[in-house]
Amino acid sequence: MIEPFSAVDLISTKRDFGELSKVEIDWIIDAYVRGVVADEQMSAMAMAILLNGMSMREIVDWTQAMINSGERLDFSSLSAATVDKHSTGGVGDMITLPLAPLVASFGAAVPQLSGRGLGHTGGTLDKLEAIPGWQANLTNEQMLNQLHQVGAVICAAGAGLAPADKKLYALRDVTGTVPAIPLIASSIMSKKIAEGTSALVLDVKVGSGAFMKTIEQARTLAKTMVEIGNAAGVKTKALLTNMEQPLGKAAGNALELRQAIEVLNGAGPQDVIDLTVELATEMLALVGITGIDVKENLENGKALAKWQQLISAQNGDLSKPLPAAKFTHQIYAADSGTIAKFDALSVGIAAWRLGAGRSRKEDSVQAAAGVTWTIELGQKITKGEPILTLHTDEESRFDSAIAALESSVVISQGESVAKPNLILDRIGE
Ligand code: URA
Repeated sequence: MIEPFSAVDLISTKRDFGELSKVEIDWIIDAYVRGVVADEQMSAMAMAILLNGMSMREIVDWTQAMINSGERLDFSSLSAATVDKHSTGGVGDMITLPLAPLVASFGAAVPQLSGRGLGHTGGTLDKLEAIPGWQANLTNEQMLNQLHQVGAVICAAGAGLAPADKKLYALRDVTGTVPAIPLIASSIMSKKIAEGTSALVLDVKVGSGAFMKTIEQARTLAKTMVEIGNAAGVKTKALLTNMEQPLGKAAGNALELRQAIEVLNGAGPQDVIDLTVELATEMLALVGITGIDVKENLENGKALAKWQQLISAQNGDLSKPLPAAKFTHQIYAADSGTIAKFDALSVGIAAWRLGAGRSRKEDSVQAAAGVTWTIELGQKITKGEPILTLHTDEESRFDSAIAALESSVVISQGESVAKPNLILDRIGE
């Protein structure tokens, strides 16, 4: 086959701040999947995009080309409207677990394709796999059946969705080209659009424990993703939420799962409840379900009943105890005062070093490992109070986890410290 374009020409266009046309973008993505464009050429293209950016039109076309590289799921046979949530990832972010059944308990259908954790952020599938028997891998048919019967499904994204993104993401990972907003936005949105949801709420995390460290970066990413979604006919809205301190009171698979179950029982940490309710309200509004008290279904057992159906439909056995770590280690407050800093990234790294996360995709995770805490920004504390507990099945992991937490907590004796806002901004109609 004679190729219509040359990769070198297209790389040169981006290197020289030019714009790629739709046909050029369609070709380079397709040719990359076919192996005609080599990894080193796509690496150069990704770096040119990282350095020189892309127009919104290019980003929308790039996303569409990645969607076209694979299958697109079709939920048109469902009577309920579909709505999904995507979080850009943070520490202690287990919101999907109470959120999917909560939204489904009001009659919307939630097709939640999720991933595994890599590095300091956890993955929803790893958390659910702490439940004995729970199955992450479903066929498209099983997924559709579960949406018909239960109204919610949380499962692994099949290999057929946006395969160009899988190949490109792996390349970006080893070429220093992950943090390019056009590439992050198109990567996330290609999978969500191919998944076939009619509406989407994005939770873009901002702060030390997030991909986006500043509000400006997060706002740009959120606006870009909202435009991509709306251009593809998916009603999309974004919340920017705080990830300077970790969410909730636990980081680690079974530890976060236990907390999610508390929230579904009408208890649990206030920030987790608040964010779950905020996101659920936005998701339901996008599919026209308004004028309801969303929190009520966390308190009256309806979301919990939906959760039980969702887990047992995927063979999970909630009657068995969740795994608990063999060893724990307590850290105490070094001073009395007010919590002035509680660094999300340090907690995420500590949980990862305790065995909750993986360094390479192939690694397995410890279900019971992680960190739990009692503190939050602005809280008064007395010297000697227990503030953090480390959990692991391998005692030898404690030293490196303790080192990660070395300067994670600052206790101030001065002025009182304001509690930070959880929701920092909203983007989209
Ligand atoms: N998550 C994704 O799916 N893709 C990115 O590029 C970054 C985060």
